[in-house]
Amino acid sequence: MVRPAFRSLRGYSLDPGFSTRLDTASINEVTYNIPFESLKPGPTGEYIEVVDYDPASGCWYDPIDLSHEELAVQDGHAPSEGNPQFHQQFVYAVAMKTIDHFEKALGRKITWHPRAFTPRERRPKHDDQQTRRAYVQRLRIYPHAMREANAYYNSDKLALLFGYFTAASQIQGANHPGGTVFTCLSPDIVAHETTHAILDSIHHRYMEDTNLDVAAFHEGFADIVALLQRFTFSEMVEHQLAKSRGRFDGATVFGQLATQFGEALQGSRGALRNMIGKWDEKKGQWTRIKADPSDYRDNTEAHDRGAVLVATIFDAFQRIYEHRTSDLVRIATGGTGVLPEGSISTDLVRRLAKEAQSIAEHLLAVCIRALDYCPPIDITFGDYLRAMITADVDIAPRDEGGYRIALIEAFRARGILPDRVNTLSVESLVWNTPELNRKQQSGINTIAKLIQEGVRELAQTEDRHKLFKMSKEIRTKLEKRLNRRSKDFTRREWEALLKKFGLTAEKTSKLFDKKFKDKFIRDGEPAVYTPFIEVHSLRPVYRTSRREGKLIEQVLVTLTQRISTLINEGNEPERRMVFRGGCTIIVDLGALNKVFYVISKNIKNRRRYDEQRKYLRGEKDDVPPPSTSIYSDDDRNWRLDFNLLHQHD
Ligand SMILES: [Zn+2]
Repeated sequence: MVRPAFRSLRGYSLDPGFSTRLDTASINEVTYNIPFESLKPGPTGEYIEVVDYDPASGCWYDPIDLSHEELAVQDGHAPSEGNPQFHQQFVYAVAMKTIDHFEKALGRKITWHPRAFTPRERRPKHDDQQTRRAYVQRLRIYPHAMREANAYYNSDKLALLFGYFTAASQIQGANHPGGTVFTCLSPDIVAHETTHAILDSIHHRYMEDTNLDVAAFHEGFADIVALLQRFTFSEMVEHQLAKSRGRFDGATVFGQLATQFGEALQGSRGALRNMIGKWDEKKGQWTRIKADPSDYRDNTEAHDRGAVLVATIFDAFQRIYEHRTSDLVRIATGGTGVLPEGSISTDLVRRLAKEAQSIAEHLLAVCIRALDYCPPIDITFGDYLRAMITADVDIAPRDEGGYRIALIEAFRARGILPDRVNTLSVESLVWNTPELNRKQQSGINTIAKLIQEGVRELAQTEDRHKLFKMSKEIRTKLEKRLNRRSKDFTRREWEALLKKFGLTAEKTSKLFDKKFKDKFIRDGEPAVYTPFIEVHSLRPVYRTSRREGKLIEQVLVTLTQRISTLINEGNEPERRMVFRGGCTIIVDLGALNKVFYVISKNIKNRRRYDEQRKYLRGEKDDVPPPSTSIYSDDDRNWRLDFNLLHQHD
């Protein structure tokens, strides 16, 4: 039998509630096309396993078997809130679609963050040693995990947990008062949670609360993916554009996410996250939120701050859309650019929708690809802007659609400015290529040679488990090499080379100046040590550019180091802080010694250390201390807890 390229599965394009609204019923049932794979009941495939146990009722629901011929020919079950097997099918479809978007944009396979398999008490005690971690083949998805208005990603269990709950008793939106709302049936929520898991697999250290942007980035980024994925369905885009007369700045479904979930919560009005506009209670109408340069500074709560990022990306989308469709509108209006009253022609709607979809698709790819150009630790929104610009310059040397300018303008409009960048121009935002002297370059050559064969083999591997094992072998080899000074280098020369990558070979006592008062600790005891250089990840990527058809073959390596200090003062109880440094290095796959970019956060940066210290101690002006309500203290550092972060009253 010939394997089909795609599997089609029926599902909702918006929340199930839209099926009972007259104006959206016709566009809410769509077909998801996802890459074909053979499936076991669950569905259980290569990447995910749906486990349908409902602890609240102690009930196991029969797993759906999508390989069953009868189901296959009718594209799975029809959308239905009352059929648990449809719920299983739906979380599978949306999660796989999300994974597919990431793999296409990143040009490589996703492997989940490996699970710690040594018991907590036997984990390595040295701060700079890693816990042993095991390969995780499948992310587990529980569509009916709890009777709660919540859904979250559990990074210890590598699982997505979706709750269900009874809607508030007053009538809001399309909910039946007192009816059941399943979070697993909201495509936005499923895409959002899947994105948390994928982001964690790429940048695990973004679970650590080192500055105000980190949790907000996780949240905002997950919403951006959910939002831009909505544009996949042309029927819906056309429908909304016909309603809004070709514009995105009115009240379309694109300005809000997880509508049904938001409406079902007691006392809430409209969607969970309104990014571009809000329901004005007094006026009784929807009003647009204008961008303000103080948005970034003033919004310090994780969701609000994340929403600023989403609004920024949506703003960039609108700028590109207007730029690219103004000629169409001029043609349609005989040159005036002003559309007459009433509905606009179907032909125009279709053309506009096509543009909007292609922009959204490309913007989503830029947003995802940028992850590979982010530092491995301590992300800020400004870093993310620089990453997006660099990623896009790499793949499309000429900015034909005006993407980069639109992004820069949108970030500027909300006051998001990268650190140490004086002007917001493409040239100043692109990450630097390090200047290496002859000796430093020859040092890099030697290291590149050491891993060349392994990397070449890795680049040809398709099997995800093999990828994991092989990459680990190369990383261990590299670690051995990097933690020992090369004989050709004097100590000073070696230190100068490491500095280019944000690293050090100095002992902790030498990291900062003499005025530095905090104690360095290891195993809970004061100690002086050289922080271990960890090769956190290594992955080859293949990407094709958006126009030129150019193939980009690169290898990404992330290197990190950590130190632990005590940051309590006076009689305060003991308080540890983990401070990390390191970088993401992007090199050429063909010639590994050719370094394109180094995106670093220096371990010896005292200013950054002080900022993090102040932040964790709650001493930053206008910034509340990291909330114990969204982080769980795993006795090493404050770590994001999505269960708490997503909790709603
Ligand atoms: Zn979230």
